[in-house]
Amino acid sequence: PLVLGIETSCDETGVGVVRGHTLLADSVASSVDEHARFGGVVPEIASRAHLEAIVPTIERALERAGVAPADLDGVAVTAGPGLAGALLVGVSAAKAYAAALGKPVYGVNHLASHICVDQLEHGPLPEPTMALLVSGGHSSLLLAPDITTDVRPLGATIDDAAGEAFDKIARLLHLGFPGGPVIDRLAREGDPDAIAFPRGLTGPRDAPYDFSFSGLKTAVARWVEARRAAGEEVPIADVAASFQEAVTDVLTRKAIRACRDEGVDHLMIGGGVAANSRLRAMAEERCAAAGITLRVPRPGLCTDNGAMVAALGAEMMTRGRAPSGWDLPADSSLPVTEPSIPADEPGGHG
Ligand code: ATP
Ligand code: MG
Ligand code: FE
Repeated sequence: PLVLGIETSCDETGVGVVRGHTLLADSVASSVDEHARFGGVVPEIASRAHLEAIVPTIERALERAGVAPADLDGVAVTAGPGLAGALLVGVSAAKAYAAALGKPVYGVNHLASHICVDQLEHGPLPEPTMALLVSGGHSSLLLAPDITTDVRPLGATIDDAAGEAFDKIARLLHLGFPGGPVIDRLAREGDPDAIAFPRGLTGPRDAPYDFSFSGLKTAVARWVEARRAAGEEVPIADVAASFQEAVTDVLTRKAIRACRDEGVDHLMIGGGVAANSRLRAMAEERCAAAGITLRVPRPGLCTDNGAMVAALGAEMMTRGRAPSGWDLPADSSLPVTEPSIPADEPGGHG
């Protein structure tokens, strides 16, 4: 099926067009620069930016895909989780386009989309899919027997998300927002073994698939502040590299353990932090050693985009899942266990 996907859960206005597993266009307008001076995403600014960007971004994606709106088979949109006002812009636009075209609308889960996007890169996902989802708001190990209906959390962070940890450490080091890309870049010049930062929840009695990054954040802050208090220069590249090593070490270790325990021979990594070069390299190395096939989309498909939403929408259509109703809501706290919001009545649009 030929599907338009719309993503507005945070600060990226993303629109993608896919045909089945084939990516035809992916257009992203970001309001990230408007948030930078506040050190984080400001919901009101994000909503207004989506409102301004949504129509031109949809038009640009369709034009790049060489697709006429009437040719679309359906429209998919992130229904949650995310910022309520931001989500509402995408959901309203999707319903308007779908209604005008007489096509079904599919309200889908942002987190399942971060996983499903890999089909555009590496073909059909294995079933079940083992996924490490690491983003700005989430860090979870998920086992999905069917990405369109059945996503099961094995474990998750008990405090900060991995991306949130990158953003907080970047702020501590006065590196700006978002923190992930700049720490990734700086860490290349640093020594990952320079400072032994703690690996949270890796003790023998700790929950095997849960994560904790707030202790790490505190340890980095204490280490940096001690240097500053002593009037010593802070070796920023070494701090960045050592912090990044601690995060990626725990993420890959637990993900591989989950694969072993569940008897799954592959690992999918998705979400914004999956763009991290050290995480990708370490996962590659450790998965190879463990006989696990690694699937990670290219960095541009890891961070928020519309193609991932279109990918999940296309999968919903291929599998004959019920579309959403015209009363499709934006659900800011949509649970990861709900890949879509189908209409109450079978067949949808009742
Ligand atoms: P969620 O998907 O949980 O709703 P989100 O949509 O805001 O959150 P994403 O766009 O998926 O998040 O990811 C953004 C996060 O990814 C930010 O925290 C950012 O710092 C982080 N990130 C982006 N690139 C990198 C990188 N190269 N290394 C580490 N982290 C990165
Ligand atoms: Mg973003
Ligand atoms: Fe995201």
